[in-house]
Amino acid sequence: MNKIKTINDFDFKNQTALIRVDFNVPINELSEITDDTRIQCTIPTIQKIISEKGKIVLISHFGRPKGVPSKIYSLKFLTDYLSKKLKISVNFCENCIGKTVIKKVKKLKNGEILLLENLRFYKEEEKEDENFAYELSKLGDIYINDAFGVVHRSHASITILPKFFGEKKCIGLLMKKEIQYIDQFLSRKNEKPITVILGGAKISSKIEIIETIINFADYILIGGGMSFSFIKKEGGKIGDSIIENNKIIENTLKTIFNKYQNKMKMLHLPKDVIIADSFNNNANTKIVPIHSIPNGWMGLDIGPVSIKTFCKIIEKSKTIFWNGPLGVFEFSNFSLGTRSIAKAIANITGKGAFSLVGGGDSIASLKMENCEKKISYLSTGGGAMLASLKNEILPGIKAIKL
Ligand code: AMP
Repeated sequence: MNKIKTINDFDFKNQTALIRVDFNVPINELSEITDDTRIQCTIPTIQKIISEKGKIVLISHFGRPKGVPSKIYSLKFLTDYLSKKLKISVNFCENCIGKTVIKKVKKLKNGEILLLENLRFYKEEEKEDENFAYELSKLGDIYINDAFGVVHRSHASITILPKFFGEKKCIGLLMKKEIQYIDQFLSRKNEKPITVILGGAKISSKIEIIETIINFADYILIGGGMSFSFIKKEGGKIGDSIIENNKIIENTLKTIFNKYQNKMKMLHLPKDVIIADSFNNNANTKIVPIHSIPNGWMGLDIGPVSIKTFCKIIEKSKTIFWNGPLGVFEFSNFSLGTRSIAKAIANITGKGAFSLVGGGDSIASLKMENCEKKISYLSTGGGAMLASLKNEILPGIKAIKL
C-alpha cells in the first residue's frame, strides 16, 4: 500500500502551504454563515502550520457558479470571519492564477494567510484542466488536501494539482480524521448489527452504494424521497411524490431486486407515509400506506408506524451509518420522522453504539434535537462519505499517494 503523508510529516517553517479546503458553507440571504462546521474543522490544520511559522494560501470552491465569476459566489465575505476566528488578519486575492496572485503570495511573511477567490470561477477547475492546475501549483511549496467534502470529485485542484508537488503533498488533520472514522466503520471489527440509513432526494447519488453495503450491513433503512423509486418498482402507487428516473437508477434497482433477492429481508422501506396535497408546510395532510398514495398527493415524511419500526431497529444496532433526511425536514410539519431517527441514533450511541453521520441535512436535524454531540463522528462530507463506502480509493486520496 502506498503511503499517504499527513501534515505531521513536514516542517512548515519558511514554507508556503497551498491548502485545498472546503469552505462551501451554507449561508442565508444576508450572506451570514448558518453552519460553519466545515471551516471549524480545518482550523487545526491551519493553526498547526501557523504555529510552525509557515505561510498559507487557501483555495476552495463555493457553490456552483459554473465557471462564471459573480458577487454571490465570491469567497471574499470569509476574510473577516477567518480573521476573527484565527486572530490573524487574512488577506484576499480576487484571482486564483496569474501575476497578481503570484506577487501576493511572494509578499507573504511567515505566519500569514492569503485566501484566494472561488476556484469554480474558472471552468477549468471542474474540467480537471492540467494547465490550470499547473498555474495553481506555482503558489505553494507543499500541497495539502483538507477538503474531505470534495475528495470524491475529479477536479483540477483535487486530482491534478498534487501531481506537480512530487513528494511534497499530504493530507490535513481533518482529512486524516475523516479517513480514520470511515475505516473504523468499514473494519470488520465493528460490532453487529450494522444498520445503514439512507434518505434524501437524490437517489442517483446513493443507490449504487446499496450494492456494496448489502454485503456487510444487517439492516438497510430507506426513507425520504429515495424510497419512492423502490415503492414504484414494487408496483406501488406513489401519487405525485418525488421520483428520479434514469438508466443507472433503473439498472441498479433491477440488480438489487434480482441479484440480491435473498438479502431483501434486510432492506426496510417505510410502511406508512404522511402525504400532503402541495409542497408546503401548511398543506392538508393524511397518513396512508406508502404503496397507495393517491394522485395529487405527495409523501413528505415517514409515518408513525415506520418511525416506530425504524427506531426499534436502531435501538438494537451496534454500528450505525446515516446519510440523508427521511422527509422534508425543513418543513416543521414533515420533520418528525427525521428528528425521531436523529434522536434514536444519539440515544443508542449514548449506550455504546458507534455512529457515523454525514451530510448537512442529517447533521442539521441532529442539531434541531440538540444531540449532535452524542454522535461518534459527524462527517463534513455527505457525498464523499457515501463514496468511501464503495471500498474504492477516492480520486483525491489516490492523488496524494506516493
Ligand atoms: P439529498 O441531498 O439527496 O440528501 O436530499 C436532501 C433533501 O431531500 C432535503 O432537502 C429534503 O427536503 C429532501 N427530501 C427528503 N424526503 C423528501 C420527500 N419525501 N419528498 C421531497 N423531498 C424530500
